[in-house]
Formats: sequence, C-alpha cells, structure tokens
Amino acid sequence: MRVVVTGGAGFLGSHLCERLIERGDQVVCLDNFLTGTPANVEHLQGRDGFRLVRTDVTDYLHVVGPVDLVLHFASPASPVDYLRVPIETLKVGSIGTLHALGLAKDKGARFVLASTSEVYGDPEVHPQPESYWGHVNPVGPRGVYDEAKRFAEALTLAYRHTHGVDTGIVRIFNTFGPRMRPDDGRAIPNFIRQALAGEPVTVAGDGKQTRSICYVDDLVTGILAMADADHSGPINIGNPHEIAMLDLARWIIDLTGSASEIVHIERPVDDPTIRQPDTTLAQAVLAWEPQVAVEDGLLRTIEWFRSQEQAQAFAVPPLDPQATEHILRGE
Ligand code: UDP
Repeated sequence: MRVVVTGGAGFLGSHLCERLIERGDQVVCLDNFLTGTPANVEHLQGRDGFRLVRTDVTDYLHVVGPVDLVLHFASPASPVDYLRVPIETLKVGSIGTLHALGLAKDKGARFVLASTSEVYGDPEVHPQPESYWGHVNPVGPRGVYDEAKRFAEALTLAYRHTHGVDTGIVRIFNTFGPRMRPDDGRAIPNFIRQALAGEPVTVAGDGKQTRSICYVDDLVTGILAMADADHSGPINIGNPHEIAMLDLARWIIDLTGSASEIVHIERPVDDPTIRQPDTTLAQAVLAWEPQVAVEDGLLRTIEWFRSQEQAQAFAVPPLDPQATEHILRGE
C-alpha cells in the first residue's frame, strides 16, 4: 500500500509512519513542523519506501502517483499548543481536512480522520460511547480544537455520502509515549519532565479530574485496524484505564524515584472533569483492545525522556505564567 500521513512528523503520526514502514507499506509523510519535528522520523529517513515532505496541508495538498490510504493526523493536539495557534488549529481541521479528503477522492483512497475525545467536551455521560453527542463550549478556549474536529467529522461524512469516499473516523483518547514533546504542556510529559528534573510537579486544581490513558503502541494498532477495515466509525480508540490527575502525578513521582513535591496550579477553563472511552464498538468491529499495561507504558516513556534528557534536548517553556510564579516562589 502507498499511504499518505498528514502530520506524519508529529507524536502519533511518526509512530504510524514507523509501523507502516515496518509492515512494508510505502509512506509519504507530510508535515509543516508547526508542532511536529523532522527528528521524530529521522530514523525512517533512508528506509525503503519512506519520504518526508515539508508542506502545509491547509495551503495545498498534492501527491504524485497512486495513493491507497490517507491518514489525516495533522493538527496541534495539546491544549497549550492549540491555544498558542488557534487559527492554524481551526484551519487544519477545516481547510486541511477538505484538502486531505479531496486527495482521497482524487486517488480513490480510503481516508481515516484522527478525531478526538474532545468532541465529547466536558461529558455528562460516562464512559463516553460514540452515540453521545457531547457537551462542548464553542466559544470557550478549547472550542478552537473541539469545533475544528467536529467540523472535520461532519465534512468527512459529507464526502462519504456525496462523493462516495471510503472514510473512517477514529476518536482518539489521551495517548502517551516516546516522542511527546517535553514542552507540549500535557499532563504526562509535564509530570515526567518535572519529576526527572526534581522540579515541583504541577497538578491542576485538586487533581480529582480524570483521564483514561493509552500507550501509543496500542493506539497505533487500533488506528491501523480501522484503516484496514471498511467501517465508517466514529470509533473510540483509547484505554479505559481511568485515573485522577493527582494519582497520576504521584504514580509518576514514584516510578521515576523522584523527590519532587506536588504543587497545585489553576485549572484551565473548561477542563473536562471526567473522560473514559466506551470501547465496546472497537472490540466488536476491530477486535481491538489495549494490550500494554499503563505502568509498563509509563516506564517506557520515562526511559525515553531520560534518554532525551541525556541528549540535552530539553528546552522547556513553562506551562503558563501563573504556574511559573507559583514554582518560582517555591510554593
Ligand atoms: N494537567 C495538570 N498538570 C499539568 C498539565 C495538565 O494537572 O501540568 C491536567 C489538565 O488540567 C487536565 C489533565 O491534566 O485536567 C489532562 O490534561 P492534558 O493537557 O494532558 O490533556 P487533555 O486536557 O487534552 O485531556
């Protein structure tokens, strides 16, 4: 198969590219390096069938030759990132998705959209099945990401029904693993980086809010199962292992053997209180379930962060100015 991966140099995209190359597919990896980096796919450069092209899919998307599958993964995905580049986030979810769907239509390729648990917003149903419509604030800060992805889902279905494109939608829940940027602002990279540096670990609010966290290898298996299936989705892909952020912070401090203390910072606006995938559909349709225990995943991720630290690759802007003030005052 010849596969186009938009956002292929990002965290998830790079793991997808790697797995596709390992299984013998050809990969055209597209990225504008806004939040991704060529370093994520450096190890694939020179491998048979791998090509990296710097391009912004919101401007233009053209690929010469046949394409069997388009995996549309281009988008900032961490709250800190999409709040920094809100318009780019809306553009890649809307215009970028339009272009990626156009490419799939033109080539007769299957198209898989990376959607998100954020389409459920701050959910009033728990766990969240695909049939739940969500509870999203369109004019809150997270609206730029949530609504871009909701629009992308609607556009994907419109191309399916109007143009007969073979489409699939995966709703991705919180995922972690090697190649998350230490400065991307999300809980797991923040906690690991802080714990390894012996800095205070920043828990938002009282830390009772939950997320359900999936190791990246499991996620990639689920996405490729969806790519190989002919189901339209949406299908939740995530690990139902749910944990409160305070417990996660303590766990990471423990696993790293760190002496870091926990500090509480302000909770972001519209931060979802609970989140857990109902994975019944993925089990039934894709025979997919996560295999990696969360603790093993965390240990592998910590190991990777340690190796990066040794490579002196850490240049870390703070999560937010308020958080830093706290930390600088030693509170
Ligand atoms: N969070 C935290 N400390 C941090 C970063 C995030 O306690 O340093 C919290 C955040 O407020 C949220 C949870 O961790 O409740 C997950 O946030 P993340 O940014 O990882 O993902 P998302 O909100 O997109 O699920």
